[in-house]
Amino acid sequence: MSSQAEPRVLISHKEIAVRINQLSSEISNAYRDKNPLLIGILKGSFMFMADLVRVLDFPLEVDFIGLSSYGEGKESSGKVRVTHRPGSEVRDRHVLVVEDIVDSGLTLAFLREYLLKKKPASVKLCALIDKPDRHQVPVTIDYLGFTVPNKFLVGYGLDWDEKYRNLPDICVLDG
Ligand code: 5GP
Ligand code: MG
Repeated sequence: MSSQAEPRVLISHKEIAVRINQLSSEISNAYRDKNPLLIGILKGSFMFMADLVRVLDFPLEVDFIGLSSYGEGKESSGKVRVTHRPGSEVRDRHVLVVEDIVDSGLTLAFLREYLLKKKPASVKLCALIDKPDRHQVPVTIDYLGFTVPNKFLVGYGLDWDEKYRNLPDICVLDG
């Protein structure tokens, strides 16, 4: 859309890096000896996952699951689809889900059920951003980067209609 406003920086890449360093020590304390399986939710978490694992200095494995609850607009359809299945065996693993942003919480509610059926040793959640005002179902975020007001965000992996994922900062898209 040509009338779309320019993205405005809300959280800079420097602030993100500082927060990821803080999260990494919490995560290290909990997972250092557990060889955890980090499962990122595609596509939005790819940048957060890359920056997070770079500062985790212990054995771990990385996989991704594709989940889609959004069409081309800015509102959740409420329906979650698996668009890419993780290849890793989840049974008896300590799973840490890595998510870009929690909105209604429906995606994570779905994923928790999906993973628990596979009998992991544990499932916890690390989310970069939470929009608590938007939750429709209860969500427990074990490791959280930032809490933000109810705005539509782009950048640092987050898209609007597949655009803006490459912006280094988390930005607000008004309009
Ligand atoms: P939920 O199921 O919690 O409503 O939605 C979670 C997913 O919706 C996120 O993983 C993300 O892909 C997308 N989402 C939620 N809020 C935003 C936002 O502000 N901007 C973008 N680009 N995606 C969002
Ligand atoms: Mg997502």
